[in-house]
Amino acid sequence: MKESKHFIENIIEEDLSLGVQKKDLKFRFPPEPNGFLHIGHVKAIWINFNLAQKYSSPVVLRFDDTNPEKEEQKYIDAIKEDVKWLGYTWKEERYASDYFTQLHSWANTLIKQGLAYVDSQTSDTIADQKGTPIKAGKNSPYRNRPVEENTALFSKMTNGTYNEGEHVLRAKIDMASSNMLMRDPVIYRVLKKSHPRTKEKWKVYPMYDWAHGQSDYIEQITHSLCTLEFKPHRELYDWFLDKLVEPNKIRPKQREFARLNLSHTITSKRKLMFLVEKGVVSGWDDPRMPTISGLRRRGYPPSALREFVRLAGVAKRENIIEASLLEFCAREELNKTSNRVMVVTNPLKLTITNYPGDDDEIVLSENNPENPNAGERELPFGKEIYIEKEDFKLEANRKYFRLTIGKEVRLKSAYIIKANEVMFDNQNNIKEVLCTYDPKSKSGSGTEASQRKVKGTLHWVSKKASVKVKVNEYDRLFEHPSPATAQNEEELLKMVNPESSKSCFAQAEPSLSKAKKGDKFQFQRKGYFIVDNDTPSLMVFNKTVGLRDNWKK
Ligand code: ATP
Ligand code: MG
Repeated sequence: MKESKHFIENIIEEDLSLGVQKKDLKFRFPPEPNGFLHIGHVKAIWINFNLAQKYSSPVVLRFDDTNPEKEEQKYIDAIKEDVKWLGYTWKEERYASDYFTQLHSWANTLIKQGLAYVDSQTSDTIADQKGTPIKAGKNSPYRNRPVEENTALFSKMTNGTYNEGEHVLRAKIDMASSNMLMRDPVIYRVLKKSHPRTKEKWKVYPMYDWAHGQSDYIEQITHSLCTLEFKPHRELYDWFLDKLVEPNKIRPKQREFARLNLSHTITSKRKLMFLVEKGVVSGWDDPRMPTISGLRRRGYPPSALREFVRLAGVAKRENIIEASLLEFCAREELNKTSNRVMVVTNPLKLTITNYPGDDDEIVLSENNPENPNAGERELPFGKEIYIEKEDFKLEANRKYFRLTIGKEVRLKSAYIIKANEVMFDNQNNIKEVLCTYDPKSKSGSGTEASQRKVKGTLHWVSKKASVKVKVNEYDRLFEHPSPATAQNEEELLKMVNPESSKSCFAQAEPSLSKAKKGDKFQFQRKGYFIVDNDTPSLMVFNKTVGLRDNWKK
C-alpha cells in the first residue's frame, strides 16, 4: 500500500523540485532541558527522525539551553535516554549554549548596523509601550541611541557591570507592526545565573528568538519544524536571518505543525512539573505520567509510541487524540510480542480430591500463540491449585461458564475439573472448593477426553509452586477528558482521578521468578504487565493496559 505524504513531506518534495539538494537536507529536534519529554514530544521526534530516515539525512539533537533559570543536567540526561529508547540515533549532539559567542557577536553586528539598541527602561514600562494587537506601540526614548553608546552599554551588560533588569538589548524593527513579536523584541537580557554548561562565563543570555533561527543557521538545518504556537515567530525568524545569512549558505526554513494533544492527560512540561512537585505522582516517571519515561515504566513498547504518532497524523490544525488510540497501539504490539503467563490476583483454593499424591507434575503451555517461535514452558500442576475468586460461583445460571458446583471447566493447559463441594470458614466465606479432575483430559495428550469441549477455560497456579508478587494497576490520571482546559492549578488538581492507582498481591506461576526488570508479559485473561523492579524477593509488576478497551461505553 502506498502511504500518502503528510504536508511537511509535500513541502520538502516541493523544495527538492525547486533545487534544494537532497544531500543538504538536515533536521533537528530542539528540546529545552527544563523537564522530561512527553508523548507530545514523541510526535516532534518522530516527524524529524522519520523524515531523516526517508531522505537519508542527519538529525541534530539540540538542547535549547538559553534559560539557565530552569535548565538542568538531569533533564539533558533524561532526554537523551528517552530519544535513544524510542529507537532513534542523532548524528550530532549540540547545545544552543555552544553558540553563545557567535550569537553575541552577531548582536554586536546588529548594533553596528543600527538595528539594535540598549533600552534602559524597566520591563514594566517596556511592556506598557508594546501597545495591543489593534493599537500601535510607542517608541522607547532610547530607540535612537547612537551606535557607540549601544556598543559600550552592551559590552558593560556583558561584563556584569549592571544588575538584572537594568538594561536589555532590543532589535529595532517596527513598534507599529501588526505582529506584536516584531515590536522591537528583546534579544538579550542580563541574567546573573550559573549555566549548566557555560557556568559563570555569561552575564547576558540570548532570548529564544535570537537563538533558535541562528542555531538552525549555524547547523545548516534546512527545515526547522516546530509546533503551531511558533507560527507568529516565523516573521522574526526570517527578519533575523535576512540580516545574517551569507551567500552560498543554506537558509533554514521554519514550518509549523499542530501539537499532539492526548485526552485525559496534559502535554505541558510546566504542568507535569507541577504534578511532580505537588506529589500528585511519584515522579516524572510515575507510570501514570504521559512522559516517555512514565510510559516506558508503564510497559509501553517504543514501537507502539511510534505507531501511535504515525496514526495520529501530521496536521495543520490542533485536535485531541483519544487516549484509547495509544492503548490500542500498545495492545496490538504486545499481543504479538509478549509471552503468556498465569497470575492469580485474588486467590481461591481448589483441592483436587482424586489427584494422586502430593507432588506436582509438569504440564506444558504455549508461550505465545501469536508467535510460533516463542516455544513452550513448564508449569507445575498438582492437588492444590489457586484460581481467581471471581471464577467460582456457588449458584450460577446457565450462562455462567466458569466454575460452579456440578459443572466442568478446563484449567488452561492442564485438565478438565468439576466442582463438587464448598468449604466455608467460620465467617461463612468460601474458603476452599473441592473438585475432581478427569485424568485423561490433559491438554495436548491427544486422548478423546483431552479434546472434549467445555465452555470455560480458567487460568490458575499451583499453590505450592506459585510465587507471591505485587501488582500495580492504573487508571487514567485525569477523569476529565481534557484537563488542559483547567483555568488554574487548583482546577487542574480537582480533575485528578483519586483512584488512578491501586496495588495488590498476587500468586504467579513460578516461571516468573526468573523475570528481569523491563520484561513484558500477558497475564492471561487480565492484560499486559511489565516488571518494574530488580528485587527477586518481591517482584513488582505494573499493568500496561487491559486486554480490551473497558472505557468504550
Ligand atoms: P512544553 O510546552 O511541554 O514545555 P515545549 O514546546 O516548551 O513543550 P520544547 O522542549 O521546547 O518543549 O519542545 C521541543 C520540540 O518539541 C519543539 O519543536 C516543540 O515544538 C515540540 N513539541 C512540544 N510539545 C509538543 C506536542 N505536544 N506535540 C508536538 N510537538 C511538540
Ligand atoms: Mg518550548
